[in-house]
Amino acid sequence: MKIGIVGAGGRMGLTNIKAVSAHPDLTLVAAIDRPGSPVIGKDAGLLAGGEETGIVIGDDVKALISAADAIIDFTAPAVSVDLAGRIAAKGLIHIVGTTGCSPQDDAAIAQAAEDGARIVKSGNFSLGVNLLAALVKKTAQTLDIDFDIEILEMHHRHKVDAPSGTALLLGEAAAEGRGIELAAHSVRVRDGHTGAREPGSIGFATLRGGGIVGEHSVLFSSTAETVTFSHSARDRSLFADGALRAALWAADKPKGLYSMADVLGLTD
Ligand code: NAD
Repeated sequence: MKIGIVGAGGRMGLTNIKAVSAHPDLTLVAAIDRPGSPVIGKDAGLLAGGEETGIVIGDDVKALISAADAIIDFTAPAVSVDLAGRIAAKGLIHIVGTTGCSPQDDAAIAQAAEDGARIVKSGNFSLGVNLLAALVKKTAQTLDIDFDIEILEMHHRHKVDAPSGTALLLGEAAAEGRGIELAAHSVRVRDGHTGAREPGSIGFATLRGGGIVGEHSVLFSSTAETVTFSHSARDRSLFADGALRAALWAADKPKGLYSMADVLGLTD
């Protein structure tokens, strides 16, 4: 499968270049970053700390689309929305790891899938977090409303969106288990005289600092006990490995919008 990478100079872009270069069934055919980026003109493999690939990082999105069967995209919401719209008619595979999408962005991405793209979008491409989400959903189904649900996340100092895509994915799993809408029950920030905790709400707490790749905990707390699920990402390669697995999985799928839970067979 021919792979194109967008956001090639980013933390995930470089990790994705490395993972594609090492994969026996995948060939890197194009890599782009934003116009004016200092990585333009550099060899993708060398920039990612590996062997020379002969693939020079460019900024031509049309060239990327015409060269690739599948595009791996960990960038920013506006970039992912634009790309999804452009590739829809060609029926390409679009693996979207970008987080921080608004409901309008998500609707535009869903429309692109309707129009012909094969899109796998997930706030987290690791097997561990997707397994955790399945356990969180089951636990929220089992424990009653006396168990308060709180989600805690910590990421590196450069992260620009909050709560993380993974925290929201875990929140969605908890809300689904409870049979409620996350948007109507989530508490994203607490500050000042907040009053007592609203029964049945799902709280989020965000920490930022240093080089943390991704730490997540989901707590179910009653007055008598607390059940805690947690996941620590130590290396970005786990997201890249998941993204490539998703691209290969999508090869024989019809147009549509899929999740990593679909790829891993974790949906019920
Ligand atoms: P980053 O800032 O290091 O990289 C983003 C890259 O996108 C940069 O190189 C930037 O120049 C490039 N870019 C911006 N505009 C562009 C354009 N118009 N065309 C091409 N490239 C463009 O960020 P990062 O840490 O690599 O994370 C990127 C995204 O992936 C974030 O939303 C992050 O939350 C998300 N992420 C998701 C997962 C997951 O498993 N889903 C895991 C890690 C990170």
